[in-house]
Amino acid sequence: MKEHFFGVQVNTERFDEMLDQIFARMKNGDKSFIVAINPEKLMKAKRDPELHDILNTADFQIPDGVGVLIASRMMKGNIRDRITGVDMMEQLCSRAAKTGDGVFLYGAKPGVAAQAASNLQAKFPGLQVAGTLDGYVKDEREIIDTINQSGAQILFVALGSPTQENFIIANKDKLVPSVFQGVGGSFDVFSGNIKRAPALFRKAGLEWLYRLLKEPARWRRQLELPKFLIAVLTGKRQGKGGGAHE
Ligand code: UDP
Repeated sequence: MKEHFFGVQVNTERFDEMLDQIFARMKNGDKSFIVAINPEKLMKAKRDPELHDILNTADFQIPDGVGVLIASRMMKGNIRDRITGVDMMEQLCSRAAKTGDGVFLYGAKPGVAAQAASNLQAKFPGLQVAGTLDGYVKDEREIIDTINQSGAQILFVALGSPTQENFIIANKDKLVPSVFQGVGGSFDVFSGNIKRAPALFRKAGLEWLYRLLKEPARWRRQLELPKFLIAVLTGKRQGKGGGAHE
């Protein structure tokens, strides 16, 4: 099931349900493209039709960012689980360690993907890392061949947005893996280069506050959240734009 905000689709399933669907599709030979949606991206997509289409091309738009949950509640929608890109990547790895499906990490600075992969293997014993490649190799043929020869079923792409989404859309049909996720700065998190907010902040939905305290310069970016909520409410009153159901 999906809800939409300014025409951009967002999945409403609980986290486990979505993981079940992704693995079922994989067993069926169906490809899944996963993208994380937050208020900042939704506001950008409102002004940028190209980004709007990129986001809607994905099979799964996961509700990353507490703002999407608030907006869904305001619209009497059904989105209840906040699913960050990092959490989705982690859970895909956790399940892949049990099913034996190989993962490939493509992106970030030289050495980061390999470090992230080895940390994930330590966390999820049995995880098959089919390969890693940094995000500064420019020969697309070489990138595609390396991924295809690795035998990976799940590909994580960390090139930043929208480069990673464009790479997935352009090459999905040529690539052997079944699951494709654009993961932004997640390899930097798993490699230990960047620290996430403590669990206390995350559970309370206050990761944004922690980040604001650590990087006060983020306030301008964070202003997008109230602007987003106002835009959803305005759209609701006018009977358009905000989160309608399908
Ligand atoms: N990155 C890359 N190749 C590039 C540009 C960026 O691999 O040509 C990597 C960068 O090293 C970082 C990741 O993309 O690990 C995500 O970048 P950023 O945090 O800017 O992305 P966002 O998630 O904010 O879109």
